Amino acid sequence: MKKKLFHKITALTLTRRIIQVASFLLFPGLFISTFSAIKSIYTALIGGTFSVAALAGQMVLAVSMLLITAIMGRFFCGFLCSFGTMGDFLWYLGSKLKLPRPKIGSKTDRILKKLKYVLLVLIVLLIWTFGWTILNGTNNPWTVFGMYASIKGWSDLSAFVSIGAVLLLLIFFGSLFIERMFCRYLCPLGAVFAVVSKFRLFKIRKPRAKCGACRACTKRCSMGIPLYRASVVKSAECIDCMNCVEICPRDNVSANPKPAIAAAVAVVALSGMYYAGNIAGNFSAERQAVAVSESLSSANTATSGPFADGVYTGSAAGYHGETSVSVTVQNGYISDVSVLATGDDAEFFNSAKNGVIPEILSTQSVSVDTVTGATFSSRGIIDAVSSALSGALKTDSGVSVFATDRSTLTPVPQLTPTPSPTPSPAPTETPEKTQAAVDGPIAAADGTYSGTGSGFRGNTTVSVDVANGYITSISIESYRDDDEFFSRAKNTIISRIISAQSVDVDTVSGATYSSTGILDAVADALGLDYTAPASSGGHRH
Ligand code: SF4
Ligand code: SF4
Ligand code: SF4
Repeated sequence: MKKKLFHKITALTLTRRIIQVASFLLFPGLFISTFSAIKSIYTALIGGTFSVAALAGQMVLAVSMLLITAIMGRFFCGFLCSFGTMGDFLWYLGSKLKLPRPKIGSKTDRILKKLKYVLLVLIVLLIWTFGWTILNGTNNPWTVFGMYASIKGWSDLSAFVSIGAVLLLLIFFGSLFIERMFCRYLCPLGAVFAVVSKFRLFKIRKPRAKCGACRACTKRCSMGIPLYRASVVKSAECIDCMNCVEICPRDNVSANPKPAIAAAVAVVALSGMYYAGNIAGNFSAERQAVAVSESLSSANTATSGPFADGVYTGSAAGYHGETSVSVTVQNGYISDVSVLATGDDAEFFNSAKNGVIPEILSTQSVSVDTVTGATFSSRGIIDAVSSALSGALKTDSGVSVFATDRSTLTPVPQLTPTPSPTPSPAPTETPEKTQAAVDGPIAAADGTYSGTGSGFRGNTTVSVDVANGYITSISIESYRDDDEFFSRAKNTIISRIISAQSVDVDTVSGATYSSTGILDAVADALGLDYTAPASSGGHRH
């Protein structure tokens, strides 16, 4: 018989509850970080922007979580996930309130469990076709939960008025009546874990021959698995909650390795990998920052950037209160961004910081994407940097808006006030294209050019600014394509063209026609040969 520590709690149950509470308090958004890491990798892969260096933190987190789950099973769900812990708490609350427990037939239960896989496929397709944003911010119940799972979030209740908050309340309501309702039927991350844990090495055994008519473990299973039918638990639904081990009156449920050892190993490994992911992310971010700083140190002062040298500070609202940064400008370029203070949770803030700061440094711009799953922390950093730099722009910065390494760094036209290229011809007039006496790869005189290309549903028109032989910015004047495809193409293609200073760049998968429309229009504006851009007359040889 299992030894009860208090009233009727065994050591395994008590340990599990302690770990659940600790995990809830220490990293309430770990499930969001994990899901976001998987989504970031997937998005980078389909967008053709995958880089191990840039995604080091997410790679360590996602790959190790999946690997540990494939070997040990879903201990993450049973022990560490705060959303799952909230589900357990609501179920417990429902029992205390003596709420009715609806009986869900096994056939209905089986069908409902497929829903999470359908949702997962839907999310994959949504990301593929609509890009990132539809699942961002407070549209997502997980994000709203992450905001209020920490006491710090309660200072601003505005996110309660959102689609995500309504969905979250519905999930909470359902969880009062059905144990782990979200985990059973709806969780897309649970669906990923279910698939990879199907052939796990950690197995729970319960020889049926010794059971008789007893069905206690089936009744107590958090995920409603019909255990009475099996001698070995092979279901991908199993979240390793260990309730079946605890409840069996005949000590007939065993696991190899022993449940306590397996749980300890899995929890330590999962937590360790979480911190390893953070360290890898920090390291990669620092390396990128150092590379930018070195590049700026060796800059030719003749190409001094648009900011006045100095150290500036700025603040803006993050996830939980204000984020303050200090921004160092060297040779006119942003050489360092340091965080002075933040009220955000480390797990969100670190992933935002590791994603956003290297982006700001490498693009020398605050027009950078937020990190998915850490949108509010990202916004806090971006706005704080923007605020710091708002008074740092040289009024006579002229065309010196290039970063020092022109192959990797892009211009800074987005900051306010935007420095205007000199000289700047009237936008309506297409300047005469001549071989300007400058170093850039674009054989066009300084000025603004307009061009038209053929998109998915009609013409796309762009205007392209050229200064010193470089494309400094591209604006979309008009387009006829569907917004969801067009914005996806636009966000990536424009930065690719500016980075490469060429139209010889890859189109965005899932938005090929819209990408082609933009490339075609830019080529038209600059007189480049889009079908064979490498041999373009627009490039200097
Ligand atoms: S199924 Fe989803 S919500 Fe439930 S514990 Fe696992 S990751 Fe968390
Ligand atoms: S009760 Fe047993 S079979 Fe059911 S989820 Fe928990 S560990 Fe898995
Ligand atoms: S609780 Fe134990 S004895 Fe009862 S069915 Fe489950 S494994 Fe068999």
